[in-house]
Amino acid sequence: MSHIYQPVMIRHLLRNGGRSSVQEIAAALLVEDRSQVEYYAQITNNMVGRVLRRRDVVAKEQKQYELLGFGSFSQEHIEHLVQACNERLNEYLESRGAAIWDHRRKSAGYVSGTLRYEVLKNAKFRCELCGISAEEKALEVDHIIPRSKGGIDEIANLQALCYSCNAMKRDRDDTDFRLVKAAYEQRAENCPFCDISDRPILYENNLAIAFEDIYPVTPGHVLVVPRRHEPNYFNLGAPEVRACHDLLQQAQATIQQGDSSVMGFNVGINCGSTAGQTVMHCHVHLIPRRDGDHPNPRGGVRGVIPGKADYSAKEA
Ligand code: 5GP
Ligand code: ZN
Repeated sequence: MSHIYQPVMIRHLLRNGGRSSVQEIAAALLVEDRSQVEYYAQITNNMVGRVLRRRDVVAKEQKQYELLGFGSFSQEHIEHLVQACNERLNEYLESRGAAIWDHRRKSAGYVSGTLRYEVLKNAKFRCELCGISAEEKALEVDHIIPRSKGGIDEIANLQALCYSCNAMKRDRDDTDFRLVKAAYEQRAENCPFCDISDRPILYENNLAIAFEDIYPVTPGHVLVVPRRHEPNYFNLGAPEVRACHDLLQQAQATIQQGDSSVMGFNVGINCGSTAGQTVMHCHVHLIPRRDGDHPNPRGGVRGVIPGKADYSAKEA
């Protein structure tokens, strides 16, 4: 919503004699941020509105709340009640201070500002489940495996979720997470990519590892594999795909920086023996390419079927 920041701030200054505190400008921006308003609409309906209705303080009809008995209140009575609300609010703020927001830290899993920014940047400021952009809906940084279930504050265990997807996730039963965690720990006997004790790991995170291919197609050929034993790339979960992608990016950047002869890359996954897969633990090939490493590189991965790589003759 970058397009509304400037007019809102200038308008606010105009309305306030040309000066304002940062806090007040921030509050003015907040009023215009529809995603935040939507967030508080949820709080109104699901929390405070529900409680006040149960206590017969308010009633709700067609998206409108009504304070019961308001019609019979005198102006004096209204002022007295406003005063009482202010007093209660101040008392509460004084006695609890910043601790009143502690529940947020605990429930949503407070994440430091730098890590938060990194996660949002990696997600390109979009919800990693539904894809909505941060401009349309506030994004929260979520622990994929919750802290309470052993999840850690590491980039690979964090994802950007809009508050709707995050709320849906939070509603899920605890056992879901135990299953997710157990699934991530799945390994197979005699699988060369499950047992990685004999080879140096180049890059790793919670869910994936990267190491050199034992029979490299070109120097620097790297394999990125999920830690979980899963033969089929298409059965990976979104966090595993992201974990693999993070390692691909690290490997690619390091190769590119360390070897000036590398001019391009092929990224490839063989899915199923028909497609050429020989090790039945999903892996992504990252193959650095150099000028002259193939007499005719046109078509790249199209070359999986002989004679099909270069289609320039068909275009003519
Ligand atoms: P696929 O044909 O399944 O896509 O590729 C398997 C890849 O794994 C091949 O490029 C092969 O060189 C590599 N590879 C097979 N066994 C091992 C191993 O034990 N260690 C490593 N580092 N790479 C392996
Ligand atoms: Zn395996």
